[in-house]
Amino acid sequence: MRYDVVIVGAGQGGAMAAIQLRQQGFEGTIALVGREDEPPYERPPLSKEYMLGDKTFDRLYIRPREFWADKAIELILSAEVTAVDPAAREVTLRDGRSIGYGDLVWAAGGDPRRLDCPGADLAGVHAIRDRADIDRILAELPAVSRVAVVGGGYIGLEAASALRKLGKDVLLLEVLPRVLARVAGEELSAFFEAEHRGHGVDLRTGTGLSAIVGEDSKVSGVELSDGTIESAQMVIVGIGIVPAVGPLLAAGAAGGNGVDVDEVCRTGLDHVYAIGDCAAHANAFAGGTIMRVESVQNATDQAACVARAIRGEPQPYHATPWFWSNQYDLRLQTVGLNLGYDATVLRGDPASRSFTVAYLKAGKLVALDCVNMVKDYAQGRKLVEAGVRVDPAELADTSRALKEFVPA
Ligand code: FAD
Repeated sequence: MRYDVVIVGAGQGGAMAAIQLRQQGFEGTIALVGREDEPPYERPPLSKEYMLGDKTFDRLYIRPREFWADKAIELILSAEVTAVDPAAREVTLRDGRSIGYGDLVWAAGGDPRRLDCPGADLAGVHAIRDRADIDRILAELPAVSRVAVVGGGYIGLEAASALRKLGKDVLLLEVLPRVLARVAGEELSAFFEAEHRGHGVDLRTGTGLSAIVGEDSKVSGVELSDGTIESAQMVIVGIGIVPAVGPLLAAGAAGGNGVDVDEVCRTGLDHVYAIGDCAAHANAFAGGTIMRVESVQNATDQAACVARAIRGEPQPYHATPWFWSNQYDLRLQTVGLNLGYDATVLRGDPASRSFTVAYLKAGKLVALDCVNMVKDYAQGRKLVEAGVRVDPAELADTSRALKEFVPA
């Protein structure tokens, strides 16, 4: 087997790379190789509508099942790439098959970071990354009254929200002093902590997990860093991902936390590109800092970037970062990256459950977190793109629409 383009990872980035190649007029052969047995689907609803039963799985597919054959995109599923040979331009699958490529796009995302404490492998300990994880959780939930969620990042918080709506007691553990500490300012963390507590989550910050306690090889509780033992029949671990780049690094690509890519998503290996959660790139919205961005936006926009490069019309990646999270009846929308911010400005009163946190760096607006503030999100995008300088007092004044700050 040999294809002009082989895409490894049939998730958000991989699917969009194939779609973009066809949309941009690429007529060569394309294979989309994925470890899961499903055609490409969206991950965000897994911890939201799908977990809640508000959306069936059919509605998560990125394109209808017949789309791939219609567009002559070969789906090779239940197939894990274990090695890359850049000299032979070939990848090897776990089952021993090999596939040749003209260009390779690595879009393998990441694997959930696992706990390494005693009891971490007991039955009833779950991650949330793919459909199978949620299906296992949903199958076990009827026998569960209390769930310990480890990690107060977006996935942990979304899981806590869904579990409360499903009537489960939730203990949420965050080892840092506040939830969302790595991604948001204190105002947003305090708001979400209050919301979760208001919805009955037993939320403990500054508290780690030292062991998972079991009976008959199944979770029966958790031992906290302060020595307390709490009952729980299920543990959901949301402590981030480990980028899935082993075969690329083994083949000689540079990287560490992900694989390093240049401004058009090229790795250091000839004809090998990487996109999405696993691609460490210099992001213009973070002052050129080398980073990985874990979002649908980044995977989708890098897919378009790589398709252009493969077609011989490269353009540097320069896409405005955006992100969202749904918890309870709250819709958080984020634009920009707040890395290295030195000041925050609050627009509106968090008590009203509709407000925006603006992040400034050296006087320039770099990001906005908008909670139930669609207008600020829509209008703020241009401000972030322009990196405008704003007067904090004027920015805090909600009688002024954000569009008023857009430079003429
Ligand atoms: P993925 O979509 O993870 O796709 C990678 C695929 O590669 C997977 O199917 C994997 O099985 C496969 N794979 C891995 N290794 C191999 C291999 N060796 N061979 C073959 N296949 C392999 N982002 C937002 O912007 N908003 C949200 O609200 C949001 N919510 C999320 C909720 C959940 C539960 C999760 C898990 C993620 C969420 N994200 C959200 C993040 C977003 O889904 C990811 O950033 C995006 O899916 C990244 O795309 P990707 O292509 O890099 O990786």
